[in-house]
Amino acid sequence: MGRHFDLIVIGAGSGGVRAGRLASTYGAKVAVIEEYRLGGTCVIRGCVPKKLFVYASRFADQFEMSKSFGWTIENAEFNWQTLRDNKDKEIKRLEGIYGNILDNAGVTTIRDRAELTSGTSVKLKKSGEELTADRILIATGGTPFVPSIPGAELGITSNEAFHLEKLPEKMLIVGGGYIAVEFAGIFAGMGVKVSLAYRGPQILRGFDQDVRDMVAEQMQARGVDILTNTDLEALEKSGDDIKVKFNTGKSQSYGEVMFATGRTPSTKGLGLEYADVECGAREEIIVDEQSRTSCKTVFAVGDVTDRAALTPVAIREGAAFAETFYNDNPTFVHHDLIPTAVFSEPEVGTIGLTEAEASNKYHKVNVYKATFRPMMSTLSDKPEKEMYKLITDADTDKVLGVHIVGHAAGEIIQTTGIAVTMGATKADFDRTIAVHPTAAEELVTMK
Ligand code: NDP
Repeated sequence: MGRHFDLIVIGAGSGGVRAGRLASTYGAKVAVIEEYRLGGTCVIRGCVPKKLFVYASRFADQFEMSKSFGWTIENAEFNWQTLRDNKDKEIKRLEGIYGNILDNAGVTTIRDRAELTSGTSVKLKKSGEELTADRILIATGGTPFVPSIPGAELGITSNEAFHLEKLPEKMLIVGGGYIAVEFAGIFAGMGVKVSLAYRGPQILRGFDQDVRDMVAEQMQARGVDILTNTDLEALEKSGDDIKVKFNTGKSQSYGEVMFATGRTPSTKGLGLEYADVECGAREEIIVDEQSRTSCKTVFAVGDVTDRAALTPVAIREGAAFAETFYNDNPTFVHHDLIPTAVFSEPEVGTIGLTEAEASNKYHKVNVYKATFRPMMSTLSDKPEKEMYKLITDADTDKVLGVHIVGHAAGEIIQTTGIAVTMGATKADFDRTIAVHPTAAEELVTMK
């Protein structure tokens, strides 16, 4: 018989590491098993490297704008390989930190693939060892989904986009969600001619309509060719390029085609059937509000549960699991008010209800909106615009939603999110003294 633990965590991403580390701190004997690299999607091929790329992509605009502020910048050149390799070094550093965090918390880290053999045991693929535990937490995240169309294998996903040998001249990004719009901004900022094909009428489905329209308009003004109501029918190799056939009857060639068509929870081959763990239609593990699955000794947190595929949510879910089961402190994660940012160009920050959702849910809502040219753009006569929008319940004055498009929207929504989470009213916003001159002062001056 192999080793026994109080808790086995499968997956060393944001949710798994937080849960394992905390449970260990509370005295549990914990093993975290990871088949790939420590850190999960966010650190290895998601939020962190993506944000580094976002920073890189924004310099071109700033160099351009700096001229009207008196600067002369000569011979500014972008080198993709330098960025890619520096990013790899940084990710390696962060991966080391994750390892240290687990070690320092007394967690046993096992680098192998684990598959369930029952609700209280897993088998390690490489070593063949069978481990047992009182509880098993699945935190295996998700993987990119690629639609099955002829030639789809010629395309890449965000996983590969982080490691391209060279940047293409022309690129097609497929999808209209977070990853599609973020990578469109990244590659366009690095000088790639980007087209984005989205199957619906407007990108960023689920976001406030004004946000969607404004981001699309501003992306187009920055040179991203957005093809809406456009689906791909087939891809085929054409010399060094990939020729794409669209449902509109048109065909076009690109150096790279990147699918950003959603992510699927990673549950395949985990042996969930041996523990009677129930999955939903999207292959996600079905959990209750305390991350319990249909098997009483198996739990799941993070993207694999498809509740809200966001790192801070996975971290909260992991922490709540450890608090509840290892610190005698029943903790719930509320998924209804989540501030979030899309690091597109322009950036989006949002919390709460969209105007359409609020209008459906409440008897009467008030909408406050300010659209303006940011001060930074006026000297250089750039056509950029920003938008601040507040939606309130007309009866109680409570702020139901805040939607920001513009510079540092992600930073701003984090602090605004505190007020909204506390249940602030429009009157609370109004009595807050403005910080001048800022764009965010619009939040407290809108009439
Ligand atoms: P999203 O679910 O956000 O978007 C997927 C996009 O692909 C949608 O536009 C969808 O269209 C489209 N799509 C899905 N299936 C098909 C298909 N068969 N053919 C054509 N188009 C298709 O997923 P992402 O991959 O962009 O991101 C995954 C998740 O990761 C996000 O939902 C988010 O939770 C998280 N994330 C968060 C980030 C952040 O916090 N900044 C950054 C990146 C990711 P439709 O709208 O019509 O369904």
